[in-house]
Amino acid sequence: MTTIAVVEGDGIGREVVPAAVTVLSTINPDWEWVPVEVGYARWQRTGSSLTSSDLAVMKEVDAVLFGAITTPPGGEYPSVILQIRKALDLYANIRPVRAPGVDLVTVRENTEGLYSGIEWEEEDRACSVRVVSKKGTRRIAARAATLARERNGHLTIGHKANVLRSDQLFLSLCTAVADEYQIPHTTRLIDALCLDVLLHPEAYDVIVTTNLFGDILSDVTGYLAGGLGMLPSANLGDRHALFEPVHGSAPDIAGTGRANPIAAIESGAMMLNHLGYPEQADLIEAAIQAVMLAGIKTPDIGGSADTRTVTRAICRALQSP
Ligand code: ATP
Ligand code: MG
Repeated sequence: MTTIAVVEGDGIGREVVPAAVTVLSTINPDWEWVPVEVGYARWQRTGSSLTSSDLAVMKEVDAVLFGAITTPPGGEYPSVILQIRKALDLYANIRPVRAPGVDLVTVRENTEGLYSGIEWEEEDRACSVRVVSKKGTRRIAARAATLARERNGHLTIGHKANVLRSDQLFLSLCTAVADEYQIPHTTRLIDALCLDVLLHPEAYDVIVTTNLFGDILSDVTGYLAGGLGMLPSANLGDRHALFEPVHGSAPDIAGTGRANPIAAIESGAMMLNHLGYPEQADLIEAAIQAVMLAGIKTPDIGGSADTRTVTRAICRALQSP
């Protein structure tokens, strides 16, 4: 029996996650979906955004399907997704981008780098420590090399080793892991990479990089896919996995029915791949393609359909391929 924790969260998370569950249930009607209510809305009501029993549920299930959580500016509200990533040790953030002539994946280290959390303020300056550990680098490199092997592809290591001592370590360890896995690999300075991936996306397959660089690079590559509403992601650890659309809670369109469900549905397809159902993931991809070709699209990608219409069309395409 497969059990999935479902965290809709806030804003359009409450619209696109149910859409993904609907599509996944069409293929797997016997799966168990365990709702977990976390996020800003609950914090406003109860003063708690995430509890240890919520985390216990997320650790017990086979995977977590996550929507989006509003993090209000101000600072007194702790970021829920950061807490979850830490508690589940989800060290790899995987973002595939597919479009005509483009099929690449960024693999971002998700626990250290410049987001190590080691920060302080002094009288005349503020400091953030960039941490690159051997353990953290080896595991992200192994994850990226494994992915490149599964894809019969190659690996690009994005770095700034000409300036940063921490990236000299990152570069040398990633290179050693790629050699060990016998994966063809190249290295690129991250600034040059950010431009080149837009000019020559077909030259890239799997790209591995550190936390901040990956944050920026995955937004750059996201541009290739035609917008936030199309981008899925996975957060993977060695024991737990969480799948979420790249976009946030989009309060500007929440409740209007116009949210594009494809990023969430594609995240569901990534979850199927991860759980060992690649054929089902392919079926969902094919259904999405068919629906897009038929012009059934939400406004963000040039259509006029609403979330439910797109979702129903994808379910219909699955039932009669
Ligand atoms: P958050 O604070 O939760 O990140 P945000 O205001 O940054 O929210 P995002 O979700 O990051 O909003 O979205 C940025 C823009 O992209 C918004 O204008 C939003 O309407 C649009 N957008 C994001 N996701 C979708 C989607 N699935 N469908 C349609 N438009 C989207
Ligand atoms: Mg945002």
